[in-house]
Amino acid sequence: AHPSEEALLSSLNEAQRQAVLHFEGPALVVAGAGSGKTRTVVHRVAYLIARRGVFPSEILAVTFTNKAAEEMKARLKAMVRGAGELWVSTFHAAALRILRVYGERVGLKPGFVVYDEDDQTALLKEVLKELGLAAKPGPIKSLLDRAKNQGVPPEHLLLELPEFYAGLSRGRLQDVLHRYQEALRAQGALDFGDILLYALKLLEEDGEVLKRVRKRARFIHVDEYQDTNPVQYRFTRLLAGEEANLMAVGDPDQGIYSFRAADIRNILDFTQDYPKARVYRLEDNYRSTEAILRFANAVIVKNALRLEKTLRPVKKGGEPVRLFRAESARDEARFVAEEIARLGPPFDRVAVLYRTNAQSRLLEQALASRGIPARVVGGVGFFERAEVKDLLAYARLSLNPLDAVSLKRVLNTPPRGIGPATVEKVQAIARERGLPLFEALKVAALTLPRPEPLRAFLALMEELMDLAFGPAEAFFRHLLLATDYPAYLKEAYPEDAEDRLENVEELLRAAKEAESLMDFLDKVALTARAEEPAEAEGRVALMTLHNAKGLEFPVVFLVGVEEGLLPHRSSLSTQEGLEEERRLFYVGVTRAQERLYLSYAQEREIYGRLEPVRPSRFLEEVDEGLYEVYDPYRQSSRKPTPPPHRALPGAFRGGEKVVHPRFGPGTVVAAAGDEVTVHFEGVGLKRLSLKYADLRPA
Ligand code: ATP
Ligand code: MG
Repeated sequence: AHPSEEALLSSLNEAQRQAVLHFEGPALVVAGAGSGKTRTVVHRVAYLIARRGVFPSEILAVTFTNKAAEEMKARLKAMVRGAGELWVSTFHAAALRILRVYGERVGLKPGFVVYDEDDQTALLKEVLKELGLAAKPGPIKSLLDRAKNQGVPPEHLLLELPEFYAGLSRGRLQDVLHRYQEALRAQGALDFGDILLYALKLLEEDGEVLKRVRKRARFIHVDEYQDTNPVQYRFTRLLAGEEANLMAVGDPDQGIYSFRAADIRNILDFTQDYPKARVYRLEDNYRSTEAILRFANAVIVKNALRLEKTLRPVKKGGEPVRLFRAESARDEARFVAEEIARLGPPFDRVAVLYRTNAQSRLLEQALASRGIPARVVGGVGFFERAEVKDLLAYARLSLNPLDAVSLKRVLNTPPRGIGPATVEKVQAIARERGLPLFEALKVAALTLPRPEPLRAFLALMEELMDLAFGPAEAFFRHLLLATDYPAYLKEAYPEDAEDRLENVEELLRAAKEAESLMDFLDKVALTARAEEPAEAEGRVALMTLHNAKGLEFPVVFLVGVEEGLLPHRSSLSTQEGLEEERRLFYVGVTRAQERLYLSYAQEREIYGRLEPVRPSRFLEEVDEGLYEVYDPYRQSSRKPTPPPHRALPGAFRGGEKVVHPRFGPGTVVAAAGDEVTVHFEGVGLKRLSLKYADLRPA
């Protein structure tokens, strides 16, 4: 049975309850971090189903990440019956689903593929080569992405650019953009930005489809509405229609994606766009302690371009926010690792947040050297690894033989004697006869002098194409056998073939869960780097501030609170840029539930050179009473007694006197492999890696 009224409302405060009881028409839930916005959406959806008689199949909830969508769905499944039919997804996943059903009506081929960033770059390179231009693809790609996120033709942006961009004149650039789009179409491919644009076009131009999709989305919710871009805004607006049973939820103080064309004006203007909107404000913060929240509030009031909001802590008091001043970035990383070791397990209570990906390396090393398990959320992605990409390319090609990017990737991987000279010839045939590359391959297999390798490849592809409409796992199993792929890995990557084979296994496991190969490829295409399957249990989470959005952790370390990093040097030139950096700091601070550590270094490597740096202006803006300077290295007076010695194999046997650059003199108490445990006078026991720790005999 459905839950009772009481069960759905009792765990909410009065303001949240009002929002949950909102029925038809537009609503805006606008509130600060940790006030229960996301929770309100969950309860509202459950309430619609349980108490208002709305069918789950009429409800859409849009989240910012796939992971957030999964969590929301899981929570709803535990709350109400029929939740399996809810449509909970990101904008991109929602749009792709619409295109899989109705895409042919906007000229998409049934097996169209989605190109990721690497594919996109590969295609741009191809286009540049074809046009005989020596330009770099990077800046052109960002121009394309920007245009697509804003929903304007790339040509419009050209007018704002200097006469020469990426080393190309406007005219040449226009040729490149045009050719790129043509090539995508010819290859039956969309890039990421295209997904929403095509879906929008479809809904705009095809009244029939619009009507059907609207039935499936009679009640719409959009979480993190402050980070919608113009295309998502239009998509939402169109889908919501006149009735506009739309609940937008967000916090303008947490808008941090303007570099992807997100625009906080969407949330600020909501009541103008939807004049009938009711506005709900949540003012109690359940996440963070009073100490953390006071600090957070003091940060964000310094922004001028904002709406005043009230945010009161439910958890009174709490430990002070702590600030550690490190000498260097290395010193900072060591502090983080040692403090985490001091706090002890479970380590998945802890997150370490930073502004730029590059900062993760020192932190990873420092944690590893102390044997603290960690995971980088959004590092080199699983689906970006060469072996995984190879196998995925076979899969995409099998569903869509027009996909030239994938074709080139697998044509000679594993090597089968199709060299660059042959590829050139095939491309020449394609050009001369105006054929897709795959068709040109068939011609080449009949006309070129040494056709065997080409024929073998074509025969393989024929087998694979037959399997492509079956289950994903069986497809990959056959592929591995038919290409002898594991043997190739051992041959090509002798030093880490084992790791790569494990990745292949992981791919098979993931494929098993998909309904079909196509379904699997779509899921992969939508999986952002930030949310790949990384074993979370028992591990410290390392991630950028951007990736931390919406999450919460009992303990948070926010590192690199320095001028140049936070605010980042690239954002200093405008007030908008600076205020977005401040919002980013606010987002980071408000992830913490119980304990918050901030730190900065006094020197850091910048573009390969060690430079002195200053603490962030954001720290200087905050009243000094709101945090405390913390230095655990000065106050260690307790002397725990060392446990009895144990003789162990390795470089150390136990009992040796050693010196460590930071901990000073100590005695080895245990050693195993690369790890030693040392008792340092006045510091206590430390587990160290011989590889990383600079231990010297005393
Ligand atoms: P953010 O702005 O970071 O996205 P949010 O406003 O979406 O935050 P939630 O993540 O929904 O906030 O809630 C923050 C925390 O407070 C969660 O742990 C949630 O379960 C808890 N919480 C929210 N409302 C209540 C309530 N009425 N009673 C108890 N706990 C609550
Ligand atoms: Mg939220």
